Amino acid sequence: MSNSNSVTLEAGVAASKNDLGLIICKSCNHVIASLPTDGYKKFYVVCQSCAREATN
Ligand SMILES: [Zn+2]
Repeated sequence: MSNSNSVTLEAGVAASKNDLGLIICKSCNHVIASLPTDGYKKFYVVCQSCAREATN
């Protein structure tokens, strides 16, 4: 853990582990993306495929 390569790698892993904010499609419940937020948060949106279905 003392070499710089592993520090960079761990920082990347830690960043994804701290992504407590989830962007979820409110139509199909698919997790579209995650965000690094302080605390557990959910953002409901409509994903592209559901939005396309809605317009057709
Ligand atoms: Zn959807």
